[in-house]
Amino acid sequence: MLKPLTGVTLSLEGRVALITGGSRGIGAATVRLFRQAGARVVFSYRSAQPQAEALVAECGGPDLCRAIQQDLATAEDGQSLVRAAVEAFGRLDCLIVNHGIWPPHDAPIAEMTVAQWRTTMGVNLDSVFGLVQAGVTQIKSQPAPSSGARGHIVLVSSTAGQRGEAFHADYAASKGALLSLTKSLSTELAPQGISCNCVAPGWVATEMSVAALEHPETSKKVLATIPQGRAAHVDEIAGPILFLCTPLAGFISGEIFNVNGGAVLVG
Ligand code: NAP
Repeated sequence: MLKPLTGVTLSLEGRVALITGGSRGIGAATVRLFRQAGARVVFSYRSAQPQAEALVAECGGPDLCRAIQQDLATAEDGQSLVRAAVEAFGRLDCLIVNHGIWPPHDAPIAEMTVAQWRTTMGVNLDSVFGLVQAGVTQIKSQPAPSSGARGHIVLVSSTAGQRGEAFHADYAASKGALLSLTKSLSTELAPQGISCNCVAPGWVATEMSVAALEHPETSKKVLATIPQGRAAHVDEIAGPILFLCTPLAGFISGEIFNVNGGAVLVG
C-alpha cells in the first residue's frame, strides 16, 4: 500500500553517531545535521575545546551531544575514542571518520621529511584503522535494530585521494588509502548488515582551506578547476554524509561519493 505523501524524512531517531573532528568545519556541520535528524552524537576534537563546548550546548547539551578530547594519531587513539564514545551513550550505530590534516605548505617529494609523512599517515590513516576496528567490534556486539542496517561507516576522503595532489603526496596517499579501505570494508561487512561508504569532497570553505581560498592567485587557479566555480559550503558535505546513514541509501555500499562541484568525475 502507498504510504501517505507527507514528505521525506531523514530520521536517525534512536541512533548514536560518533563523528571525529567535530569541533570545526565539515565535522561541526555534520554534528549539527545528525542532531537535527534526531541522533544522539558524540564527537571528538583535538584542541578546540571552546568550540566543542559551544557546539554541545547548541546541540541540546550532554544528554544528546557529547564532546571528547582525543588526539587521533595512532590506531590505539582510535580504539580509545570508540571506547569513550560507547561509554557516553551505550551504543554505536554510525561511525563518521572525518578528522584529518592537510599540511598546507608545498613539499616537493625529494624534500618532504619522514616526520611529515609519518604524522600525516598517523592522523589520516593509522587512527582510522583503530576507529574502524573498534567501531565494527562494537556494532557487531549490539543487538541488531528492528529495521534498517545494523550499522553505518562513512569515511571522509578527498579528491586528492582520487587524482593525487602535487606537492602533497602524503595527504593524497593517505586519502587514497581510504578509498580502498572503503571498498574492502564494504565487501567484508555488507553481508553482516554494516554499510561502509566514502564521501570524497573537493574544495570546501573551512579553516583547512582558507589560506588557499583567500589567496587571490591560488584561489583563481583552484576555482578554474571546479565547473560550479566555487568551493562547497560545509553543509553540502554534511548532507551526503547523513544521507548515506539513512534507509534511503539502503542499497549503497562501497560507494565513493563525489561531492566536488563537478571537478573530478570518476565512476
Ligand atoms: P578542519 O576545519 O581543519 O577541521 C579538522 C577537524 O579534525 C577538527 O575538528 C580538528 O580538531 C580535528 N583534528 C585535526 N587533527 C587532529 C588530530 N591529530 N587528532 C584529532 N583530531 C584532529 O578540517 P575540514 O576542512 O573540516 O576537513 C574535514 C575532513 O574533510 C578532513 O578529513 C579533510 O581531509 C577532508 N577534506 C577537506 C577539504 C577542504 O577543502 N576543507 C577537502 C577535501 C577533504 P581541533 O578543532 O580540535 O583542531
